[in-house]
Amino acid sequence: MEMQRIDLPALGEDTDRTYRLGIMGGTFDPIHNGHLVCAECAFDALDLDMVVFMPAGSPAFKQGKQVSTGEDRYAMTLLATSDNPHFVATRFEVDRPGVTYTADTLQLLRDLYPDNVEFFFITGADAIADVVAWRNADRVAALAHLVGATRPGYDLGRAESAIESSPYDFDVTYLEVPALSISSSYLRERVREGKSLRYLTPDPVTGYIHKHQLYGARASRYGASNDRYGIRSGEGHKDGQA
Ligand code: ATP
Ligand code: MG
Repeated sequence: MEMQRIDLPALGEDTDRTYRLGIMGGTFDPIHNGHLVCAECAFDALDLDMVVFMPAGSPAFKQGKQVSTGEDRYAMTLLATSDNPHFVATRFEVDRPGVTYTADTLQLLRDLYPDNVEFFFITGADAIADVVAWRNADRVAALAHLVGATRPGYDLGRAESAIESSPYDFDVTYLEVPALSISSSYLRERVREGKSLRYLTPDPVTGYIHKHQLYGARASRYGASNDRYGIRSGEGHKDGQA
């Protein structure tokens, strides 16, 4: 376990104060500006000290779907967060074998960090509604505050009633994130269709996708759309989501 601590921010050294650590979990396949804006809003609104971006190892909820390797998803996450001094990309889940559950991740973090470090698990409000169905939801409730980012067109009612009907005592803060209906699925679809990712994700991420030919991309000029070469990519990344 000690090895894994290395790429996590050191917090908690001043015992006279508490620290607030944001944890942005996701598949990040690929990471996009929606994730980044969401984390930045949470950082400001909740007065966080740091936000760690934690690409999921083998996410429980994405079993049976084709997902890019942890190495690729981590690399893109690192590229996307590298210019923000309070964002840190971590290999914490990617390096854990087997299916990764949020409750286990939070418990491992709890064991690593001193008690004066509080955890804020940031997630889309859509995911909040599923929290009650998570394995060990009671432990999630005990270990972290939840931050639910609202996505455009999302009805908070579903999240709120799910939390209310849960037997566990979740502490949830809902956060308005500026209109961003960006999703990883949308980006993958655009890559497949040879369309640009400009303004949807940081350019280094686009460069990485093309260099490593993810999502059916052809290696092309940096950031260039395949369209201009008349290239149509074939079967690429498949997923079951719209
Ligand atoms: P996919 O399209 O494959 O489902 P995604 O865009 O939802 O991908 P994930 O990696 O599944 O990306 O999301 C990680 C977390 O970020 C989830 O909690 C999700 O709800 C949240 N999230 C994703 N996109 C946005 C967005 N545009 N604004 C706010 N939160 C988002
Ligand atoms: Mg999603």
